Parts: sequence; structure tokens; C-alpha cells
Amino acid sequence: MSQQFDLVVIGGGPGGYEAAIRAAQLGFKVACIEKRVHKGKPSLGGTCLNVGCIPSKALLDSSHHYEDTIHHLGDHGITTGEVNIDIAKMLARKDKVVENLTGGVAQLLKGNGIEWLQGTGKLLAGKKVEFVPFEGETQVLEPKYVILASGSVPVNIPVAPVDQDLIVDSTGALEFAEVPKRLGVIGAGVIGLELGSVWRRLGSEVVVFEALDAFLPMADKALSKEFQKILTKQGLDIRIGAKVSGTEVNGREVTVKYNQAGEDKEQVFDKLIVCVGRKPYAEGLLAEDAGIKLTDRGFIEVNDHCATSLEGVYAIGDLVRGPMLAHKAMEEGVMAVERIHGHAAQVNYDTIISVIYTHPEAAWVGLTEEQAVANGHEVKTGQFPFAVNGRALAAGEAAGFVKFVADAKTDRLLGMHVIGPGASDIVHQGMIALEFVSSVEDLQLMTFGHPTYSEVVHEAALAVDGRAIHAIQRKRK
Ligand code: FAD
Ligand code: AMP
Repeated sequence: MSQQFDLVVIGGGPGGYEAAIRAAQLGFKVACIEKRVHKGKPSLGGTCLNVGCIPSKALLDSSHHYEDTIHHLGDHGITTGEVNIDIAKMLARKDKVVENLTGGVAQLLKGNGIEWLQGTGKLLAGKKVEFVPFEGETQVLEPKYVILASGSVPVNIPVAPVDQDLIVDSTGALEFAEVPKRLGVIGAGVIGLELGSVWRRLGSEVVVFEALDAFLPMADKALSKEFQKILTKQGLDIRIGAKVSGTEVNGREVTVKYNQAGEDKEQVFDKLIVCVGRKPYAEGLLAEDAGIKLTDRGFIEVNDHCATSLEGVYAIGDLVRGPMLAHKAMEEGVMAVERIHGHAAQVNYDTIISVIYTHPEAAWVGLTEEQAVANGHEVKTGQFPFAVNGRALAAGEAAGFVKFVADAKTDRLLGMHVIGPGASDIVHQGMIALEFVSSVEDLQLMTFGHPTYSEVVHEAALAVDGRAIHAIQRKRK
């Protein structure tokens, strides 16, 4: 290769491309190797932009408009004629959104002087990188630094082998050409609930099978209880403690066999989505003598700053421990580069937000009440509903609540849990408060705009001490 790079990033997903851009800003000569071909074209942006966060949100928005038009416009006195959905157009819109964004990343790399090497990268011994381009000869690069950012892929389970026709993974579920009448979803995780919601809104009868005995066990109990109630009311048939043990394809139907409460049952669907989690993707990424350690679950072993066991080599995003989230990958990419540059950058893993983009959205940051208790805190909590918030009522968005978890002795805020309108944005107020080691009193003393959804944040903070204004709270303080 004619050029000498300071840094080679393998993988152009949110982790990899953000690392590349930050490195270019800091004056490094950077190459980013990406092998993805999406809809016939080489594409940057990784899982997130091509088949993850963005296309799923595009479909969530389209399907929400459809459902809102049918069920809620009438509340505002608006009448419409017959409402139809053109699935091909909806998918084309989603593809356009993806194309805009992935094209934008290509522009950003170009504008920052970053070389996008289209093809496959592999780490060799001695920190060298083999690059196999889509066309042309294999090259060996000798950068000073390497960032591994090859992401993750869906987990496959032998009991439901994905054929991307009748049995699909999350990628296939973004491409149904028509609305399946009967849709099964294996896994009531974030992705399963989002994709199940999309097709339920468009008319599918959706059954979600969840092997665990609890719904969203990682979430605060109050939130998961309310959330399950709301989703069930919307028509998602969520079967908890239902472990899928087999599937059988017959013609254009798939039979799901499952066990619930000790009983073997089965049900027939037109499509089945397998959403049982994701696993790190390191296939072909590392030569045997590359000198990189993997954990027993296939993640690349890194320290708190994403440094691997090999000096000058970092690994970030879904390929390493921690939640598989785009924003986590992005911040790790920036941190790794800044560490290389000599800054003391770090990621605060305690304030990474979680969001489920259903309607209403659910989002949280910090500790759940159960985690706070388990961590030895004497806990106090405050919860306030959207049902008495003026803005929420005006908008017809009155479901859900904000809940704060705090330390009773120090008043320090420990966690925030939101289910309701704009939860994905509202939760950032909690994230910032946690970052600034805020007390509940800090939030109580602030003036929130009226009428806003955020007033529920204020009221929930006041409710921690029994003094929410728009509720009868008898505690005097
Ligand atoms: P990836 O985005 O997976 O990118 C890695 C890239 O590396 C890939 O494009 C791959 O082609 C490339 N690559 C791999 N090996 C090589 C190699 N050897 N050579 C060259 N290139 C290689 N997260 C959120 O935060 N919010 C959401 O709303 C959200 N929604 C999601 C919805 C769905 C349906 C899915 C599937 C995921 C969603 N995620 C969401 C998760 C998010 O997409 C991932 O956490 C994120 O993309 C991880 O970023 P990454 O850079 O680590 O890896
Ligand atoms: P997540 O990892 O958050 O995407 O969630 C995936 C979910 O799928 C988990 O809650 C698992 O318990 C669930 N799951 C995995 N295998 C099965 C199975 N065979 N039947 C039903 N649910 C499953």
C-alpha cells in the first residue's frame, strides 16, 4: 500500500466511524475498513444505520402514523376516508432514510480525509492489518494503532433456524413485503418488542414468546409491570415463561412448539421473527497469532478504556463487554482514540441510557430500585404519572410515569425510569443529573417550563419527598 496510516479501524459502524472521525480531527492519518454491502452497494454505518436502529425507527414511525390515523385522529375531530397502507412505499421510505444516512457517513469520512477501504480487514501478528479489497490485490498495512470495531450479529437458535423467508431475524423483519396475518416473535427483548409493535400496528396478530419467567427483568419492576400492561392492551400477546422448543415449516406456514407452565403447546404463524439476542462478530477478524484474547463468550477482552491485551490495539462497541448499544459504541470509539492521543478520556458506564422505542417509549438510566437495594442503599423513590400532566392530556399521551430512585441518607439520585411520551429524550435529563452527581433536591429546586412533559420529571422529584403538587401527598416537609 502506498500510504502509511497512523490508525486503521476495522468496521465502519457507529463505533468505528466515530473513532475514525475523532482520530482525523486529532491529526491522525486514518483508514476505515468496511466490508458491508447493503442492497447491492458498499455501505458504511454498520448494523445501526443499515439494519438496526435507524430502519427500525423508520418503520416504528410509519406504523405509528398509520395506527394514529386510524385510532386517534377521530379524537381531535378529524375524519378521514378509508385508510390504507402501501407496504412497498413504507419500505422504500425506510430505505431512503438509510441511504441518506449511510451516504452522509461516507461524506463525513471523505471530508475528514479518511480513507474508506472497501473490503475485509484482519489483524495479523505484530499489529499488522491484512486488507482484502472487493476488487484488487490483498494488501498488508502497518499502522501504529488499530481499533477493532466489527460489531455483532443476531444469535441463531437451532430450534428456529432462520431462512429469511418464513423464519426471519431482525434484518428479515424489516423487509416483510406484506403484513403477516399471524406473526410470532421469539424473545421479548428490546428488538422483539419494537419489531413486534411495528407489525402489530399494521394489523398482524402478534404473539411474543419469552422463555424467562419475568418480563424485561433488567428494567425497574414498576416500569416493566406498567409497560407489559400497556403493550398487552395494545394487542401484543406476550407469553412469559414460554420457551420455544421447536419449529416446523409446512408450505407457507410455520408451527411453533413451546412449553409454558410445564405444558407442551403449539401455534401456527405466517411469519416468525427470532429475536433472542446478539453475539459479538469476530469471524475472520483475527489471525491465530494476532495476540488478542477473547472471553469465553466470544467478546474481545478489553480494560475499562477498551485497550486489548496487545499494546496499540483497541476494541470497541458490540465486540466488547457491556450493553450492545450504538451510543455506547460511539463513546468507546471516541474514548479509544483520545486515549491513543494521550487524553485521559473515559466512558461513564453507569449513565448509559436504555430505550425501547415503542409507543409510549420506555427509557431508563442508572440503578433500578431493586439494584439500588441490592447494592446496599437505603432507598427512597418518587413516581409521578403523565395522566395529570397538562401537556400530556392535551396531546392525548397520558400513559406512563417518571420514577426516581435515590439514596435516602444522602439524597443522591441513583436512577430514573420513564415510560411515556418522549421518554427517549426525557431520560437524558436523568442522565445529565446523574453525571453531575445531582441530589433529588437539585431537581426539586429547578423551574421546569409549563406546559411540558418534563414537568412530570419535576413532580417525580418532588414526590420523592412526598411533596408533588398535582397529587394529594399528605407528608408535610
Ligand atoms: P456494528 O454497527 O455492527 O458495525 C460493525 C461493522 O463492521 C459492520 O458493518 C460489519 O460489516 C463490519 N465488519 C465486521 N467484520 C469486518 C471485517 N473483518 N472487515 C471489515 N468490516 C467488518 N442500538 C441503539 O443504541 N439504539 C437502538 O435503537 C438500536 N436499535 C437496534 C435495532 C435493531 C433491529 C438492531 C439489530 C440493533 C439495534 N441497536 C440499537 C444496536 C446497535 O445497532 C448496535 O449496538 C451498534 O450498531 C453497534 O455498533 P458497532 O460499531 O459496535 O458495530
Ligand atoms: P435480548 O437479548 O434483550 O434481545 O432478549 C432476547 C430474549 O429472548 C431473552 O429475554 C431470552 O430469554 C429470550 N429467548 C431466548 N431463547 C428463547 C426461546 N427458545 N424461547 C423463548 N424465548 C427465548
